Amino acid sequence: MARYSPSLQNLINSLRELPGFGEKSAQRLAFHLLALPDDKMNAFMDSIVQARKLTKRCSKCQNFTDSDPCPICSDPSRDGSVICVVESPRDVSTFERMHEYRGLYHVLHGVYDPISGKGMQDITLAALFDRLSKDPSVKEVIMATNQTVEGNATALYVSRLLSPSGIKVTRLASGMPMGSDIEFTDDLTLANALKGRVDISS
Ligand SMILES: [Zn+2]
Repeated sequence: MARYSPSLQNLINSLRELPGFGEKSAQRLAFHLLALPDDKMNAFMDSIVQARKLTKRCSKCQNFTDSDPCPICSDPSRDGSVICVVESPRDVSTFERMHEYRGLYHVLHGVYDPISGKGMQDITLAALFDRLSKDPSVKEVIMATNQTVEGNATALYVSRLLSPSGIKVTRLASGMPMGSDIEFTDDLTLANALKGRVDISS
């Protein structure tokens, strides 16, 4: 006999699809959702629907945004000569939280990871190169991909491809341990890594 009713089991199965969710956490969330008052549940569902409907990728930096170009790309006080290339929108918010960086961003939505089947065509590199080819004001690209084998490979690949352009390519440096994610790096370590970035132009 099934442990839960079909509709409840269906909800648990859907929640298990979420990253980081196992059977136990999916059950916990399912029961939490069922116990919510109607107005809270409606607001919760509406926030998901609205986020899905309104969130798009910025045509310049590829970050998630409600308006295109995004507020960062539209901000005239930002330094358009520097582009910080990150793996995910979460990394942009980590940099912004630090309040040390005034340049622009480019979100790759992943890294080159052939083992997981993610090739260069699956990340937004083409959009980055297209953007750089149209914008002569860019003087430096900071490769702020995570300090992993895949993050480093992506950084070196970009450096090699940008070599003929004369654009300086740098990599976050000191204090960032191998295998670390930008997202989980504290502000001071990230600020030092940004200040101490090294030239990897080839
Ligand atoms: Zn943008």
